Amino acid sequence: MSELRYDGKVAIITGAGQGLGRQHALELAARGAKIVVNDLGGDLHGDGSSTGPAQDVVNEIVKNGGEAVANGGNVATEEGAASIVQAAIDAFGRVDILINNAGILRDKSFKNMTVAEWDAVIAVHLRGAFLVTKAAWPHLVESGAGRVVNTSSPAGLFGNFGQANYSTAKMGLVGFTKTLAAEGAKKGVKANAIAPVAYTRMTADLFPPEFADKLGVDLVTPLVAYLAHESVPESGQTFTVGGGRIAKIFVGEGPGFTKKDGLSVEDIRDSWQEIAAQDPLVVHADINAQTMATFQALQ
Ligand code: NAD
Repeated sequence: MSELRYDGKVAIITGAGQGLGRQHALELAARGAKIVVNDLGGDLHGDGSSTGPAQDVVNEIVKNGGEAVANGGNVATEEGAASIVQAAIDAFGRVDILINNAGILRDKSFKNMTVAEWDAVIAVHLRGAFLVTKAAWPHLVESGAGRVVNTSSPAGLFGNFGQANYSTAKMGLVGFTKTLAAEGAKKGVKANAIAPVAYTRMTADLFPPEFADKLGVDLVTPLVAYLAHESVPESGQTFTVGGGRIAKIFVGEGPGFTKKDGLSVEDIRDSWQEIAAQDPLVVHADINAQTMATFQALQ
């Protein structure tokens, strides 16, 4: 079995001072990539900052014989995002892989969620992924095999009590990933997303302790590494990954209901079973295929 290598590649990993991002950084470095380890070094809610966590991971990589530089930039600011990409260019001269992983939580029921709690979470997860990808994009295109891996969440795909801010950002990243894939296709850039389940400081209070050992971050990173590899076959997709299980998650469309001679509210009521039917399910390859489904129904 040939080993997947990343020699000559430069990878930026945001929020890589601990948890999932740290594991991604160690794995890619061990397989030959040069790494920018970004981490703001704040607490779980995004308060405070420290260059310690990013530097610790860099020290570990260097001790293992790899190459890495630390960056303490805040992904949620334009200056921070620019500094992250500049760190890659200054140290290694290129960017081939971007893993948008940085994240915080400000959980609160929707009724009690403040505007500040909403803004802070959207800023790090959604705006942060946008800003760093925006700064990295010309270099990813120049790479010829640019790879973006965005970190979504089951909470975004399925919703979660107390996470209106987080789930909105995480589902936003699914759309972001699909559009990056569409725009990157002709330029050799592929973008995919993961919806992980892993035991980290972010989930330490959520998972029962007996699952902690079975949900190691080392069971998420192999998928991220594959999605970052130049040989990855897919783009624009989202995969759930955790505990050794990996599955594609997709948006499906039911067979639907069509009435060509006008539509009333009562038509909707009386056809609800057909409208809500989930079988047979169609997964459209892109927006053109979805639009065609409407046009075909009119023929
Ligand atoms: P974590 O708290 O261990 O790691 C997140 C890292 O991001 C921290 O080191 C933090 O300092 C850094 N960070 C936060 N804000 C930043 C900013 N503005 N700029 C730069 N760095 C910043 O948590 P984790 O579980 O490893 O989470 C990694 C990603 O995976 C997050 O996006 C999270 O939402 C996502 N995720 C995790 C799980 C899970 O089960 N652990 C599930 C779904 C999604």
